[in-house]
Amino acid sequence: MKRVAVLGATGSIGGSALDVIARHPEQFQATVLTAHRNVEALVALCVAHRPRLAVIADPALEPELARRLAAAGLRIDSAAGPAAIIEAAAGSLCDTVVAAIVGAAGLESALAAAHAGKCLLLANKEAIVMAGPLLLEAVRAGGGALIPLDSEHNAIFQCLPRDWPRNAGADPRRPHSGVRKLILTASGGPFRGWSRAQLEKVTPDQACAHPNWVMGRKISVDSATLMNKGLELIEAHHLFEMPVDALDVVVHPQSLVHSFVEYVDGSVLAQLGRPDMRTAIACALAWPERIESGVPPLDLATSAALTFEPPDRGVFRCLDLAVAALRAGGDHPAILNAANEVAVAAFLAGTLSFLEIADVVQAVLEELPGRAVVDVPALYERDATARAAARRFVRHAC
Ligand code: NDP
Repeated sequence: MKRVAVLGATGSIGGSALDVIARHPEQFQATVLTAHRNVEALVALCVAHRPRLAVIADPALEPELARRLAAAGLRIDSAAGPAAIIEAAAGSLCDTVVAAIVGAAGLESALAAAHAGKCLLLANKEAIVMAGPLLLEAVRAGGGALIPLDSEHNAIFQCLPRDWPRNAGADPRRPHSGVRKLILTASGGPFRGWSRAQLEKVTPDQACAHPNWVMGRKISVDSATLMNKGLELIEAHHLFEMPVDALDVVVHPQSLVHSFVEYVDGSVLAQLGRPDMRTAIACALAWPERIESGVPPLDLATSAALTFEPPDRGVFRCLDLAVAALRAGGDHPAILNAANEVAVAAFLAGTLSFLEIADVVQAVLEELPGRAVVDVPALYERDATARAAARRFVRHAC
């Protein structure tokens, strides 16, 4: 029986993870559920999944959480505050952690789980973008494992030779045998094929209406700007220890091929499946076994034709901003991530236009010189500086 902490349980990934877990009560138990402020949804999940502990990130909501759990007749421990989430991620109630908090807010709990030797199922790409080397070092030091949930990285994980995740102590510099390139697929988002002029007045609801995937609002906007693919390139660089020049992106509007691994002999392996995160989640939860995920089979004979095209880097500038941050190294990716989080929040709040997201990210990257990534406190300090700079550029853009 794997005991699973679902961090970000009330979100899109959290819901998909709980759906898979509930299909296999003999194999998995959701022991810890966390949320940010959505007490009502958290309590509803507690009613359905009966965890041992429920944690709400906003400390002011602790009494409400306790009251609602009691009113629902549930004898479940409750806690509140970011520190309680970190403690739960590293604590004895779980051996597996689904890291599905959105944004930099998920970094410390992912690190705590890694340090504690948990099996870390990572959806929270912002954590590895910010602190890739620190997070991977924590996994090695903790002796646990990291399996990616992001569909592209999970696809690559499935197409790579079986020497990954590496055993603790393995030589991290050893290249994957015969791998030449990792090619991430991108749907292109809701604005694929649009011009800059057409994008000038798009609304948050248009940006969040993804053609294939149902996701939280932040990642939906990232998909629309192609920043999501940029963050994923950085994620792939760290996870699979591949140089930036061995990483590529191809737009595949049908979202059925989730990524490719190209080998030196000319073989290209792909993983296919419906655009439903439960496939990647089931793969990661049960690895190396395979379990039913609730995702209907993919019927290739009746599927749309699979098409591929290059991304429009001129219109969707965020992709190259992310590549530039990765090439610049140090804490540039953390600066990129912080600026993007602020810009996306401003766009969702209606105070920044869609095209200005890239402008804000670029301005912050140009203003702040990169530094080496030393430790988590230094990263948080840079994260705060980058956010302050981004807020200033957002105000000027208004
Ligand atoms: P959602 O917005 O749907 O859910 C986010 C979750 O995080 C919610 O449970 C939310 O709680 C919680 N949360 C938000 N802020 C905080 C905070 N400050 N402290 C603690 N918890 C917080 O996001 P998604 O599920 O779409 O995405 C989650 C992560 O997974 C992101 O990093 C995303 O990039 C990644 N991902 C998502 C995919 C998808 O298909 N959705 C695919 C691949 C990766 P509350 O409900 O209370 O606000």
